[in-house]
Amino acid sequence: MKVDRIGSRGFVFTFDELLNTEFNCTTNIYVIDGKSHIFICDTFLGPKSMLLIKKFIDKYLKKKEIIIFNSHSDWDHIWGNCFFKEQLIIAHENTIKNIEKNAQVELNKYRNYCQGKVSICLPNIIFTDKIHFYEEGIEFIYSPGHTNDSASCIDRVDNILFAGDNVESPNPYLNSNNFDEYERTLTNYIFMEVKRIIPGHGEITDYDLVIKNLNYIKKLKSM
Ligand SMILES: [Zn+2]
Repeated sequence: MKVDRIGSRGFVFTFDELLNTEFNCTTNIYVIDGKSHIFICDTFLGPKSMLLIKKFIDKYLKKKEIIIFNSHSDWDHIWGNCFFKEQLIIAHENTIKNIEKNAQVELNKYRNYCQGKVSICLPNIIFTDKIHFYEEGIEFIYSPGHTNDSASCIDRVDNILFAGDNVESPNPYLNSNNFDEYERTLTNYIFMEVKRIIPGHGEITDYDLVIKNLNYIKKLKSM
């Protein structure tokens, strides 16, 4: 695991447990040290991974309430929720439905990748369009694309977007044929004019990759 500072109050934790596997990717967790809360975007593969982040927070940041955000329901983004089961866990309404439907099957299928003892833990705060922590300058918005439940986090103070798996190098992966929604989401990202973009997997990036991904979706749509 490596930690990179981003903006004035952000940290990107990059995990490599899925490198050299069939998935062959690094995975990013974005932590924002807000005014009175610490926000953690996604929880990766389990409590062992989240303990590393908690230790970092305890060592380097002032004690504040921790709030978790799930960018979508895929197993590689939610298995660490159980480590934070006493905290607020925010997700889109489709995410909770997808977790209820698929998480146990995914846990059985990919059990070898668990980091620590994983139990499925549902989000406890659900939104439809967005949740805005106004004083913190943090927004969680519904942004369907990679999945029908994909959501994103925007840090308005630093102008940084955590896009989950909607932005991916070299090409994004679609779980359904929702080309129009995906196109809208990526176009909306462009209108946001953020400075940096953190994808769920791979290097911290910018609009060049969003435009490439958008062109890829448009191409798929026209086929
Ligand atoms: Zn993923």
